[in-house]
Amino acid sequence: MIAGTPTTDAAGLLADRRRFFDTGATRPVAWRRGQLRALRLLLADRADELTAALEKDLGKSRTEAFLSEIAVVRAELDHTLKYLDRWIAPSRIAVPAGLLPARAWTQARPLGVVLIIGPWNYPLQLVLAPLVGALAAGNTAVLKPSELAGATSRVLARLVPEYLDPAAVSVVEGGVEASTALLAQPFDHIFYTGGERVGKIVMKAAAEHLTPVTLELGGKSPAVVVGGDLRAAARRIALGKFMNAAQTCVAPDYILTTPAAAPVLAAALADTVREFYGSDPKASADYGRIINEHHFDRLVGLLGDGTVVSGGRHDRAERYIEPTILRDVDPSSPLMQEEIFGPLLPILEVEDLDAAIRFIGARPHPLAAYLFSDQDEHLGAFTERVQAGGIAHNVCILQLAVPGLPFGGVGASGTGSYHGEQSFRTFSHLQPVFSKPTRVDTLRLAYPPFGPIKRKL
Ligand code: NAD
Repeated sequence: MIAGTPTTDAAGLLADRRRFFDTGATRPVAWRRGQLRALRLLLADRADELTAALEKDLGKSRTEAFLSEIAVVRAELDHTLKYLDRWIAPSRIAVPAGLLPARAWTQARPLGVVLIIGPWNYPLQLVLAPLVGALAAGNTAVLKPSELAGATSRVLARLVPEYLDPAAVSVVEGGVEASTALLAQPFDHIFYTGGERVGKIVMKAAAEHLTPVTLELGGKSPAVVVGGDLRAAARRIALGKFMNAAQTCVAPDYILTTPAAAPVLAAALADTVREFYGSDPKASADYGRIINEHHFDRLVGLLGDGTVVSGGRHDRAERYIEPTILRDVDPSSPLMQEEIFGPLLPILEVEDLDAAIRFIGARPHPLAAYLFSDQDEHLGAFTERVQAGGIAHNVCILQLAVPGLPFGGVGASGTGSYHGEQSFRTFSHLQPVFSKPTRVDTLRLAYPPFGPIKRKL
């Protein structure tokens, strides 16, 4: 089903957006700023409708929905509005003396019509934050929110055309069928956020038209704890893990720590869960739910892969799984093969930091890697040796709250990045221009025939 759009077919939808792009209307910075401000207004005016939809889809508390979705997009908008003029300005490039007189510069140009396909876990943020970059760079866009977060998809389909120029931005609702129809079209860029399996489908479809892609994928992001204040580490790991019921792409997937620290950390994590969500997290307004039965069943199936040291209760009718800490986990068990994407937190033991770095290096590059330590040499060695989309020291997930930091994966965790200036670059073509007057023909030496004098040069 394709809804929320003036046309009902993917090819027509792309053609409409391209026609508008070709008028040149999206080029002036005033148009871009106008759209960004309109998006800001949408978030301010309709925050209640948006947070209600997020609560319905994921059981997110309204506060968490606001902070982790609306406020993130708003910060991205404010940062972009502040720096857009600087990013747009052409950049002068030095010309070698032998080519003078001449001028050279680069100019960021919009790509055209971009397709943004979003996942269900942050269904608002992960569609609208890329849109900020796409509009700032002067593109038109088609948005395809995840059908698994149906309430958010519906509210976006209703509100986006009310606030943004409907000739420039369309929302397509639907699942695999709608995505497949869109992916068959020759968009100018595809920005996909989601899992690896669909990432491969997107890349294959894009290859048909040589369309460039940004793939924001996932992976098993480790949190290594080798010293410092273990209670503080437990609180920060729990914040990053259990927000959104641990359905966060950069959530710490598992912990690597020393045999001495493991029991202390496990106890501190259990205490923290009680501090955050009470002794019955099911009754906490601040603790979310699993997106659907399929993922609930998958996660419950993984509970047997270790010893549950705290948590473990679950209720299928509510798609509730308690924040759960596990130990005695075999690194070759299913729990340690794929991204967990739910509130199970295994603690694995390693001898020291060096062993932890080797453990991470032997697996696909994660989207994020976290180190908790109070020693500068640990922080330096970890940052130097671990290959991950991003690194954070003594904190989890908050690297995403710095709009000036690019966000993206490497290898299996993704291709390309965005946020802040990097979003603008992702959705632009940096066009080089070389301009040389004919008035003084300094190129005479370069023209054939190459007689004896020229040959000596
Ligand atoms: P999902 O199932 O919602 O799929 C994402 C999008 O792909 C949806 O819009 C869906 O309609 C579409 N899709 C699904 N099957 C398709 C198919 N066969 N062909 C074409 N399109 C299809 O989301 P998901 O994949 O379950 O998302 C979870 C994953 O996303 C996790 O791995 C997580 O780590 C990752 N993720 C990454 C980021 C990031 O920023 N890097 C953010 C959030 C989630």
